[in-house]
Amino acid sequence: MTKNYTRDYWESVLSGLKPEGRHFIDGAHRAAATGETFTRIRPMDGKPGARLARGNAADVDAAVAAARAAFESGIWRKKDPLERKKIMLKWADLIRAHGDELAMLETLDVGKPVMASLTVDVRLCADGIQFYGEMIDKLYDEIAPTGPNARALVRKVPIGVVGAITPWNYPMIIDAWKLGPAIAAGNSVVLKPAEQSSLSAIRLAELAFEAGLPAGVLNVVTGYGEETGKPLALHMDVDMIAFTGSTEVGKLIMGYAAQSNVKRVALELGGKSPLVVFADADLDAAASAAAWGCFYNSGETCHASTRLLVERSVQDQLIAKIEAVTKSDIALKHPLDPSAQIGALIEEEHMKKVLGMIAAGEKEGARRAFGAEQVLSETGGYYISPGVFVDMTNDMSLARQEIFGPVLATIPFDSEEEALKIANDTIYGLAGAVFTKDMDRAHRFSEAIHAGTVWINTYDMSNFATPFGGFKQSGFGRDRSVHAIDKYCDYKTIWQQFG
Ligand code: NAD
Repeated sequence: MTKNYTRDYWESVLSGLKPEGRHFIDGAHRAAATGETFTRIRPMDGKPGARLARGNAADVDAAVAAARAAFESGIWRKKDPLERKKIMLKWADLIRAHGDELAMLETLDVGKPVMASLTVDVRLCADGIQFYGEMIDKLYDEIAPTGPNARALVRKVPIGVVGAITPWNYPMIIDAWKLGPAIAAGNSVVLKPAEQSSLSAIRLAELAFEAGLPAGVLNVVTGYGEETGKPLALHMDVDMIAFTGSTEVGKLIMGYAAQSNVKRVALELGGKSPLVVFADADLDAAASAAAWGCFYNSGETCHASTRLLVERSVQDQLIAKIEAVTKSDIALKHPLDPSAQIGALIEEEHMKKVLGMIAAGEKEGARRAFGAEQVLSETGGYYISPGVFVDMTNDMSLARQEIFGPVLATIPFDSEEEALKIANDTIYGLAGAVFTKDMDRAHRFSEAIHAGTVWINTYDMSNFATPFGGFKQSGFGRDRSVHAIDKYCDYKTIWQQFG
């Protein structure tokens, strides 16, 4: 029977919820070594939410020690691949079975609509764990070509203890992108979720343990970046940091790796992705892609299409269509309202930062077509309506900075050459798109945009088979797809001489 997801239903899920806010280390919950906690403020209404352990270096030490012990014991990495696969598939099933609860935890923390948390975040999290679980008993090693008297095995071995540091915008999905391949490859993990979004991470670890993942293979330490993320990235017994977050912190992570034990680093960082529309394009399709591509998740998306490059002759027509789609389809409502398409921004400070960037952009001469204002303030939460600025140039701050709010910067162009130059004139290289009916141009342009993903006549389509990540200051290393496993493995050669 299909459930009736009404506002009342979600209110009842919320009232029945008792979020766990302690670390999860070696298969058990643990308060911070100092006993300190911090309170998460709910973005949907500004009320105090869960209390979380405020971790520090001592908690990180305990989690790394548990991860190391589990790894060295071989309790996970040496288990029969079929058994490991079954445990990961059971974990994916448990995530689905607890979908409503996980969706509510995510919404409480980050303010996105609970239906989006359920139908996108929970679903993709479970699918990610399943994808890598299914790979476990299908991974082969290699035998290298040698002379007749030797045999050289090229083994793919797990790295050891992986530290995963994740952001708050798609917590469960990005956790799965890291935990799936890292654990499938046989590593142990210490996960440090963003201080804004720890609840789903703790619950995911509990469910993994319930599914049969041995104690110590997945540990979660909550707390602030400087107090928990930094000691994790500096730790001498951590072999790799898989990081998703801002370019600014990504650079620090590289420094920490260099200052400590030359641990491996994979970085998924920020973006300022161009969506390029030529006059011959299907403008309805382009308008819908531009609106959803920029405004979904209230613009808090690393690969959001935040720069709209449009052939000058169709700028006005396209903006009118984007306004129509935004107003009719992208409902900004309280996150527990099942008809909400977008909800609150992550916190008050972030909302003020976005409003400040908008004001600074207007001072520079960016012209507002519609939206980009604080709304629903009576809820006590942090909401900004989707907005578009037009007639801009690519040197304006709204076109250069990663705003991480629902703000679209429109830059008109007059030739394909100029469009390409503007598209690539950014420090980032995460994603991009081109809309045109001319397939020769689509091919040429998609090859020439310097970004990890380029879409033709669509935006944000993907599945687990496709790698995701950036060029330039959007980072390196790829999440998703079979290739992500490589990131969490090392090659080891075993040469055997005969005769
Ligand atoms: P952030 O860089 O502020 O924080 C990310 C994580 O790093 C958090 O867990 C935080 O606690 C931790 N951290 C902060 N300072 C640290 C330090 N000194 N040492 C170690 N850890 C530290 O990013 P955010 O605000 O949580 O997320 C938004 C950013 O993430 C945006 O820039 C966005 O583009 C990026 N992002 C990128 C991708 C991608 O796949 N490329 C996906 C999602 C988000």
